[in-house]
Amino acid sequence: MSGADGAAGSPIQAYLERMYERYADLLEGEVANYIPELAKADKRWFSICIATIDGHVYEVGDARQPFTIQSISKPFVYGMALEDNGEQEVLSKVGVEPTGDAFNSISLDPGSGRPLNPMINAGAIAVAGLVRGESAVEKLHRILQTFSLYVGRNVTIDHVVYQSEKSTGHRNRAIGHMLRNFDILGVDPDPILDLYFQQCSIAVTCHDLALMAATLANGGVNPRTGQRVAKPEYVENMLSVMATCGMYDYAGEWIYKVGMPAKSGVSGGILAVLPGQLGVSVFSPLLDAHGNSMRGLRVCADISKDFQLHLFNAPRISTSAIRAKYDATHLASRRLRGSEEARLLKEHGEQIRIYELQGELTFTTMEPVAREVLQHLDTTESILIDLKRVVFMNDAAQEVLTDLMRTASAQGVALVLAGAHEQDWLPKTIAVQGPALAPLTPPPFADNDLALEWCEERLLSGRGVERVPEATVALTAHDLCQGLTPDELARLLENLQARSFSAGDAIIHSGDCPDHIYFLSKGTVSVTVGLMNGRRKRFSTLSAGMVFGEMALVDRLPRSADVHADTDVECYVLSCEKFEDVACLDASVRAALLRNLLRHVSRMLRRANEEVSVLAQ
Ligand code: GLU
Repeated sequence: MSGADGAAGSPIQAYLERMYERYADLLEGEVANYIPELAKADKRWFSICIATIDGHVYEVGDARQPFTIQSISKPFVYGMALEDNGEQEVLSKVGVEPTGDAFNSISLDPGSGRPLNPMINAGAIAVAGLVRGESAVEKLHRILQTFSLYVGRNVTIDHVVYQSEKSTGHRNRAIGHMLRNFDILGVDPDPILDLYFQQCSIAVTCHDLALMAATLANGGVNPRTGQRVAKPEYVENMLSVMATCGMYDYAGEWIYKVGMPAKSGVSGGILAVLPGQLGVSVFSPLLDAHGNSMRGLRVCADISKDFQLHLFNAPRISTSAIRAKYDATHLASRRLRGSEEARLLKEHGEQIRIYELQGELTFTTMEPVAREVLQHLDTTESILIDLKRVVFMNDAAQEVLTDLMRTASAQGVALVLAGAHEQDWLPKTIAVQGPALAPLTPPPFADNDLALEWCEERLLSGRGVERVPEATVALTAHDLCQGLTPDELARLLENLQARSFSAGDAIIHSGDCPDHIYFLSKGTVSVTVGLMNGRRKRFSTLSAGMVFGEMALVDRLPRSADVHADTDVECYVLSCEKFEDVACLDASVRAALLRNLLRHVSRMLRRANEEVSVLAQ
């Protein structure tokens, strides 16, 4: 018995080992013998694997014992035929109705000769005929390449089994010629039969099958390599035929009892898929009368029951997509505002509603979001939807969101998106067409703080606040100079030095020793810090009349953030030495500056507290 790396102590590994022990001595059933080479299988071979959709494989028993894939190849080649020809063309040649007949029955539609489904041999042979390729060699090469992508290593043909089947596969040959007769195969069936025998003879292990199953569970992307092997819509088709026809003439009972799309093969493999969650594989060559692995059936039924994996017993989606909701009276952007702007934002901030979404956005999770947003549309001016914590958004959710944007825009409400830039699912139609669909919608923002600032600016400009970026704020109007007499101001001015910076200039570097504080008299600057993920986070944006670098006066510790000029900037700087030198600044000026500084610091602290209380929701 073997276990996957790092599986020691794992409850799942322990479970698999118990399961192995439970059925190790069950030696009922027969090894397939109609292909002579298969009869040589060791009836004690037994392994069970579970592969997660993040690529971890739990394994027990002979999980690395190679065997031929046989019928388990059918859904995967069906996937290739779909990719090569499209759904309609494939459906015109092979149906999707379960037959309830044995795998090798000659079940063709009496009128059209169309095989009833791609999981019986007739359907699978017709499907092999749909694989594109200039030559037989190229077709086989493509099949091997695709299977290699599913398992994450190069697979090859077991030539002995292939020859064995080729020389005894008269019934399949008969099926091939029937298909030719009905023109389902438009060419000589023999090379196609050959391809079919070869696809059945691809050597795999139980470990490989688990990864193939996990790739289907993962929507067609191999969870180990991250490579896409099949398009999600075709994975849906593959799983559908597996669910209805994958287990020979036992398919109905299987889905009833186990509840997972699956495929078995006469060499003793079974592969089962729980979409979106995991893949299971079992290998044990002893078969029942239907051709399914006896131990495989038992193990899958137990695993499904014990881990509650039946597809129709799906866990209820209980997490709300709305992680937090609040309005702009509770949280302001990091642009520091003068008192009039701050007042307007406090008074009308409930007109900006912020929704932080989380998790997976699908129709089911997005629908309550739409309901919530619409409920407040009449009393809202801008809606900010923060997608930073969303891990995935499907087309249906995207459609609902796009519709919401249109509705909002038609009512004069802007719907602003933030936080989705680094996600590979960033809805392209929304990102690209959003503003066209909904004229009030700006392009999505990378940062929720900048998005909030956009909403605030919209609110302020609607209330008569004009941005005059060029205005210079006289020293007397600076926050830090409140309460200074003209005399005191004049004395302060004597100790200040004028400095100017161009847009983009770095003014303060984090880590530097502090030497000055800055009175910003023209332009804007932003204070940012580098995050561990390499991105930068804005702490604040300041405009003329505000102070920065002020901590220097208080603790003289190294700078904790960077400050850049957003525009051309003019400021006055006061050196820490001068501030402390009584010969330069007398006690009353220093006291006034410190009083104002204290007010400023307490305002920042209140703001931080408010933010913590909102974000802690
Ligand atoms: N190559 C086998 C055949 O066509 C596949 C049978 C199976 O695994 O169901 O007979």
